[in-house]
Amino acid sequence: MAKKLVILGAAESGVGAAILGVKLGYQVFVSDKGTIREKYRRELDERSILFEEGQHSEEVILAADLVVKSPGIPEKAPIIVKLKEKGIPVISEIEFAGRHTSAKKICITGSNGKTTTTLLTYDILKRAGLNVGLAGNVGQSLAWQVAEKDYDYYVIELSSFQLDGMIEFKADVAILLNITPDHLDRYEYKMQNYIDSKFRIAQNQGPNDVFIYCADDPVVGYEMTMRQLPARCVPFGLGKPPVCGAGIINNEIIINWEQNPFTMSIFDLSLQGKHNTYNSMAAGIAGKVVEIRNEKIRESLSGFEGVEHRLERFLRVHGIEFINDSKATNINSTWYALESMTMPTVWIVGGVDKGNDYSELMDLVKAKVKAIVCLGVDNTKIVEAFKNTGIDIVETRSMADAVRSAYYLAKNGDAVLLSPACASFDLFENYEDRGRQFKNAVRDL
Ligand code: ADP
Repeated sequence: MAKKLVILGAAESGVGAAILGVKLGYQVFVSDKGTIREKYRRELDERSILFEEGQHSEEVILAADLVVKSPGIPEKAPIIVKLKEKGIPVISEIEFAGRHTSAKKICITGSNGKTTTTLLTYDILKRAGLNVGLAGNVGQSLAWQVAEKDYDYYVIELSSFQLDGMIEFKADVAILLNITPDHLDRYEYKMQNYIDSKFRIAQNQGPNDVFIYCADDPVVGYEMTMRQLPARCVPFGLGKPPVCGAGIINNEIIINWEQNPFTMSIFDLSLQGKHNTYNSMAAGIAGKVVEIRNEKIRESLSGFEGVEHRLERFLRVHGIEFINDSKATNINSTWYALESMTMPTVWIVGGVDKGNDYSELMDLVKAKVKAIVCLGVDNTKIVEAFKNTGIDIVETRSMADAVRSAYYLAKNGDAVLLSPACASFDLFENYEDRGRQFKNAVRDL
C-alpha cells in the first residue's frame, strides 16, 4: 500500500511538497489550520489532492508515515507534540525535497543578508549559464521545482526555522553570514540554541563540501574555534585575505581559491555598504567553488540590481535621495544601513520594537543623522534614546506624514533613509507594505 504523507500548512512549501509527494507515489493529505489561499487551493484541486482547512483532523494526521511541516508551525503546536509522541517523523519541505534530487545545493543562512546573498549567488550562476533554480524563503518551493523541472543547481535561502526541520539534508556549499540575536522566543531565549540551529547548515557535510563563513562576525568566529567541521572551511572578512578565502587589501576584494584568485575593487560592487561587501564576498566565493569564471562573477557583482526594500535607492526629488530599507527590522540591519550612508541623512525609524537597544546606534546616528523622524504608534523609546543628542526629532504616525516631514527637514544633497529597526505591524501589514507606502508617498511629493 502507498505510504501516507501528511502535509501541515498549505502555502508555497506545503503545496510544493504535496505535488512532489504525489509524483513519488505517496497517498497525500494536506491540512491547514487557517484558510488556504485561493491560488494554492486551485493547485491542489487541479491535481485532486485531498486537503482540509480551518482544522487539523487528528485521526488522519496521526496515521501518517511521514509528515512535512511548514516552517511557520512551531514545534510546540499541539499537533506536532502528538506526532512526536507517536514517533512519526516530522520534517521540513526542504528536507523532503533534498532527499529526491541529486542537484548541487548552495544554501545560505544568517541573521541578516540572506535574501540579498541568495539572489546575488543565483544571479552569478544564472549569468554564467548554469541550469539553476532559486528556492527556500525566496522563489518557488524546492519540492515544487524538484517535482516539475529539476535543475542541476539550487541556490536556497534557509531560515533557522527551516534548518530546524532538517535531518539528512546536506548542503554542497553552505554560507553562514552572521549570527545576531533574533527570534529568541522560538529558542527558549537561549542564544546557544539559536546558534546551534544556524550551524545545522553545515550538518552532514563532508570533506568534499564547502562551508563559507564570515570570520569577522564575533559569534560565528568564536563558534568556529569550538567546532571541528569536516567540510572545507572558507572564511571571508574585511581584513587580509587568508590562503583560502576572501579579504580586502587597498579596497580590492581578493578571493583566494585554488590556483586562480579573484580580484575586484569594492567601488565596482553594485551593492554598496560594508554589509553588502560581505554579501558580495560570500556570493563570489560560492561562484568560485562552482568554477565560474572570474569575469562572469565580476559582471554579476557589478551589475546586480539589488533587492526591493533593502537599501533600495528609490528616487531623487529636488536633489534629495530617498532610500527604502523597510526590510531592516532589527538594530543590526539598521546599523549597516546607517554605516553605509555618505550624505547627511534624515532617518525615518520606528514601529514595533523587539527589545531594541538604541545605544548601539548612537555613534553612527551622531555621525550621519541630521534629523530623526519617528514613525510608530509608540515612539517613546526612540525619543528617550536620542533626545540629548541635539538632533531634531519629530513624531509621526502615518507614512505620508513621515515622508513629508523628512522632505522638509532635508535639503539638496541630503538623503532620506527609511530604516526602521522595528517590525511594521503597528501601522502596516508587513515590511513590503511599509516599503510600498514609502515609495508611494515619495512619488506624491
Ligand atoms: P534577510 O533575508 O536575512 O532578512 P535581507 O537580505 O533581506 O536579509 O536584508 C535584510 C536587512 O539587513 C536589510 O535592511 C539589509 O540592509 C540588512 N543587511 C543585509 N545584509 C546584511 C549583512 N550581511 N549584515 C547585516 N545586515 C545586513
